[in-house]
Amino acid sequence: MSIPETMRAMVFRQAKTPLVLEQVPVKQPGAGQVLVKVLACGVCRTDLHIYDGELDHPKLPLIIGHEIVGRVAGLGEGVTRFKEGQRIGVPWLGYTDGTCRYCRRGQENLCEHPGFTGYTIDGGYAEYTVADQRFCFPIPELYADADAAPLLCAGLIGYRSYRMTGEGVERLGVYGFGAAAHIIAQVAIHQGKQVYAFTAPGDIEKQAFARRLGSAWAGSSDELPPEKLDAAIIFAPVGALVPAALKAVDKGGVVVCGGIHMSNIPSFPYELLWEERVVRSVANLTRRDGEELLSLAPQVPVKTDVTIFQLEQANQALAALRGGKIDGAVVLVP
Ligand SMILES: [Zn+2]
Ligand SMILES: [Zn+2]
Repeated sequence: MSIPETMRAMVFRQAKTPLVLEQVPVKQPGAGQVLVKVLACGVCRTDLHIYDGELDHPKLPLIIGHEIVGRVAGLGEGVTRFKEGQRIGVPWLGYTDGTCRYCRRGQENLCEHPGFTGYTIDGGYAEYTVADQRFCFPIPELYADADAAPLLCAGLIGYRSYRMTGEGVERLGVYGFGAAAHIIAQVAIHQGKQVYAFTAPGDIEKQAFARRLGSAWAGSSDELPPEKLDAAIIFAPVGALVPAALKAVDKGGVVVCGGIHMSNIPSFPYELLWEERVVRSVANLTRRDGEELLSLAPQVPVKTDVTIFQLEQANQALAALRGGKIDGAVVLVP
């Protein structure tokens, strides 16, 4: 594969300022890194939070994008996990030190010196990217490039959130029926659970989408479900959904906040938390989450709904995601 010296990239320089198409150098992979020719890159809500300046410490200038499906186009020194030409995925967790107390106890998602793809490391809104081989995954054959992209964050973080709902869940609530929910709903239904989908009030199109995917019930987030839930995951970045979800879950129920950013949670009476209800967040992902979801997804089989934009249309893609009118996930292709 001949590698050009420069590539097209959509570059982020400042919050709330449109990304700019630029010709930038293609990086050489360092020791332990692979050079990846990007085939598709998902557009995640976190990208909007970065764009809006709600996440404080982006590398600048930055190439956003952390749901990368690509082909290995070059190997840095010591790379053994992948071969040139192999199709791999690059997720949000792009680096850990491997030595801090969190890494040592299996919580690499909480590493003290992490690197995040498309935030503190350049990501996939470009023709090429460089990634640490340890954090990349082989992509299951079943999936086309663009269809696989949403698995890498919506899927992985969604799956981690789903895992945190615990054992014995029969009725699972999902607040915000976007990219993550549409993947996790399929996994949950495959595993015999009933899914209760909550959308923004009155969004009957999203509710219909949730029913088409097999949800037992779909309604507005200001409604209570017909039966108490065993657990709920909140994917929408809306803090007011925390007390709403607590009201909807039964004794001992877990409410998992799956987003990286959320508006303030309003105060609520203790009785909503009483009877061993739990509220928790999920931060980042571990490689175990990735390995589990990517082996499970083809068995279900999870089918992703994607709307494709060209790389140059990244600003329109972000606007489309913000508008919330798209079923499933938004994906860029170079
Ligand atoms: Zn660490
Ligand atoms: Zn993401």
